[in-house]
Amino acid sequence: MRQRATRDQQRLDSGAVTSPKDLENLQKEIVSLAKRQGDLEDVVLEVMERREATQERVAELTGRVGAVQGKIDDATARRDAAFEEIDGETATVTKEREVVAGAVPADLLKLYDKLREQQGGIGAAKLYARTCQGCRQELAITELSEIRAAAPDTVVRCENCRRILVRTAESGL
Ligand SMILES: [Zn+2]
Repeated sequence: MRQRATRDQQRLDSGAVTSPKDLENLQKEIVSLAKRQGDLEDVVLEVMERREATQERVAELTGRVGAVQGKIDDATARRDAAFEEIDGETATVTKEREVVAGAVPADLLKLYDKLREQQGGIGAAKLYARTCQGCRQELAITELSEIRAAAPDTVVRCENCRRILVRTAESGL
């Protein structure tokens, strides 16, 4: 298009075109070609601007993806560390339980395991201030008297939840 405009301009400048009608047509065409070129340049400019904006957006999104991935990596590492810690604690507690269980009479251990299974994982509870810490119920006066009278090695149980009650100095007996 630019070549055509140049050619038209050369023809006009050469003086080869003498007819006023042809001259007028040639000038019109030159003006029209210049306008079209201007329009096309605007389109090219707009496309370039849009490409630039798109590239900026891609860079921004890539950065955000990187940041989110960093957070995921961080959380994963913390989770793995927590798992490792829990595994370690589980191993320690399991070993401790084995030692304690070894010192408990077999029938008492059997009762404890049965209660633990029935009572959501807690087979024995502390008797604190006349209250069973397993079911949070305060024991009746008669039951407290019985417990008070029981020998220290007698296994006493909560009349409400049936858990084994552990007596301490704070039991309120
Ligand atoms: Zn209870």
